[in-house]
Amino acid sequence: MTDPRTPGQDNDRGARLVASGYRRYRGEDADVYFSRDICQHSGNCVRGLPEVFDRNRRPWILTDNAPADRLEALIGTCPSGALQFVARD
Ligand code: SF4
Repeated sequence: MTDPRTPGQDNDRGARLVASGYRRYRGEDADVYFSRDICQHSGNCVRGLPEVFDRNRRPWILTDNAPADRLEALIGTCPSGALQFVARD
């Protein structure tokens, strides 16, 4: 099956997120973006994937500590949009 996305589309999205105040946490297969200003502190991320999200660690997001599909699913539960998932090309 071919990928319907336009080449570079995800990179453009990442650049837009950074321009909007998100910070990028790089991974091998995907990047996670986080905006502290938007976070509502629901805790879904730290409860759902503590191996990736740990507020007591720096960096607090280790993107490669979970498979990209699990990461994407978890980020879909973030109620505020403070977390964004962007697959790498
Ligand atoms: S799930 Fe989203 S809103 Fe909740 S603590 Fe994590 S980043 Fe913040």
